[in-house]
Amino acid sequence: MTRDAGEVAVVGGGPVGLMVACELALAGVAVSVFERRTERVQQSRALSLHPRSLEVLALRGLADRFMARGQRLPNGHYAVLETRLDFSVLETAFPFSLFIPQTVTEALLEERARELGVNIHRGHLITRLQQSPEEVHLEGTGGGGTFRAAARYVVGADGARSAVRTLAGIPFPGADATMSLVLGDVVLTEPLPHPALTLSSPKGVLLLAPLGDGIHHRAVVFDPERTKVPLSEPVTLEELARSVRAIAGTDFGMKTPFWLSRFGNETRHATTYREGRVFLAGDAAHVHLPAGGQGLNVGLQDAMNLGWKLVGVLRGLAPEPLLDSYQRERHPVGAHLLQNTLSQSALLHATHPEGQALRASVSKLLTLPAANRMLAEQIAAFDVAYPDPVLPAPPGMEAVPEVTGKRLPDFALRCEDGVTRRLYSLMHEGRWLMLRRPSAPHREPQAAPWGAWTSAVTAEPEGGPEELRPWQSLLVRPDGRIGYVARA
Ligand SMILES: Cc1cc2nc3c(=O)[nH]c(=O)nc-3n(C[C@H](O)[C@H](O)[C@H](O)COP(=O)(O)OP(=O)(O)OC[C@H]3O[C@@H](n4cnc5c(N)ncnc54)[C@H](O)[C@@H]3O)c2cc1C
Repeated sequence: MTRDAGEVAVVGGGPVGLMVACELALAGVAVSVFERRTERVQQSRALSLHPRSLEVLALRGLADRFMARGQRLPNGHYAVLETRLDFSVLETAFPFSLFIPQTVTEALLEERARELGVNIHRGHLITRLQQSPEEVHLEGTGGGGTFRAAARYVVGADGARSAVRTLAGIPFPGADATMSLVLGDVVLTEPLPHPALTLSSPKGVLLLAPLGDGIHHRAVVFDPERTKVPLSEPVTLEELARSVRAIAGTDFGMKTPFWLSRFGNETRHATTYREGRVFLAGDAAHVHLPAGGQGLNVGLQDAMNLGWKLVGVLRGLAPEPLLDSYQRERHPVGAHLLQNTLSQSALLHATHPEGQALRASVSKLLTLPAANRMLAEQIAAFDVAYPDPVLPAPPGMEAVPEVTGKRLPDFALRCEDGVTRRLYSLMHEGRWLMLRRPSAPHREPQAAPWGAWTSAVTAEPEGGPEELRPWQSLLVRPDGRIGYVARA
């Protein structure tokens, strides 16, 4: 059987695959998602969307849907240290982490993908992949037999054990898990001393927080006595409760587990995010200890970075080498992610007396606003910038290293027609945006690709980052980052 894959085939219908598909379909690209599962999983691995992910969703007009289904948490954690990371100091419309189960995130992204006309083939497992100069050929099983499909590009968003990565011959070097941790979504029959509990002692590290459904709590345990238990060994409620009792002195009467699982600190990074017409995004490109709740978040940001570039090339709006900037921009972000989760892994592991002293010192350091902000920005993904321009500057504009590729917060703009609009509300279509001050000479970019791929607005910023004050015009990338500027 032959399946019509459209112009881009996305393998994997998890959060990252769905997000890439949405970005492509938004621009009218014909896109298909091939997902091996017939139904979404009911358990949520991720529970949080951090500030940059919320901005990414807001850039496409989707944040309200997520905000309506989640709960704002003004802080996050680093290695379950006692001093929390304070997101409230960040300059953003989203100075918090949104507590939202992964199942809800996936449901909302799938809803959006379907609205945009994405073809989602559930129960379709990709098993073969072959590239020709013009297309990528896929084969798999699904729909009661085998099937073939072809597309101009393939995005492998098929998770940590990515078949696409293997079939494209992309190495995935790194280290196997050296420790295992346990999680349980359970009912507590005794109250917690605080709404959420973090404890660290020589007996281990415990994180206990409400799951948001009014019924369950998520318990995550690092028990030094149990770290060598193989990941494949099933977790029992008694095992979890015993570890919790050892750390907290009580198991809070835990019962009726909805989900019990073991996870580890396997740390691997694809050597490249692109092999010809095949791209990797999300867990297919990077795996690590889920510390600080970052994997899904970074994956969504991979997806946005790749999406608009594929649109530009597929629509003939940008030259093909634009696609190489995906690797240039996102691979270092993946490397940085692995580095920060390894650092958290070491701190979690530090339950011996020297380690406890180290944890106490780092926790104390985090009471310093500058240190706290540095790690809060890291987890929020606000420390990401892309100083190298992705395309040659349009006539009359330049790429200024200090600001190129920096994220723009969602500031207000007093527009020519007298209406005040938010910057992000002008980016919902995923196009470049030319932002011109009323006093600026008329410099609408005409040269390809800019003319056909750029919306323009004349407006005076109300607020916005300090460093933008001197600029007359600003060309904003489709992902809300600074592209090019024109000086007065
Ligand atoms: C315990 C735990 C807690 C976590 N907490 C957080 C958190 O709080 N915040 C956070 O950001 N991240 C967290 N993560 C990480 C997060 O869950 C992942 O990073 C995220 O799911 C990655 O999304 P993805 O779409 O790349 O991959 P996946 O979610 O793994 O989706 C891949 C999809 O591809 C499909 N697939 C696989 N192979 C094929 C094939 N050959 N053909 C077709 N389909 C295929 C799979 O069925 C799956 O649906 C956590 C992870 C764990 C284990």
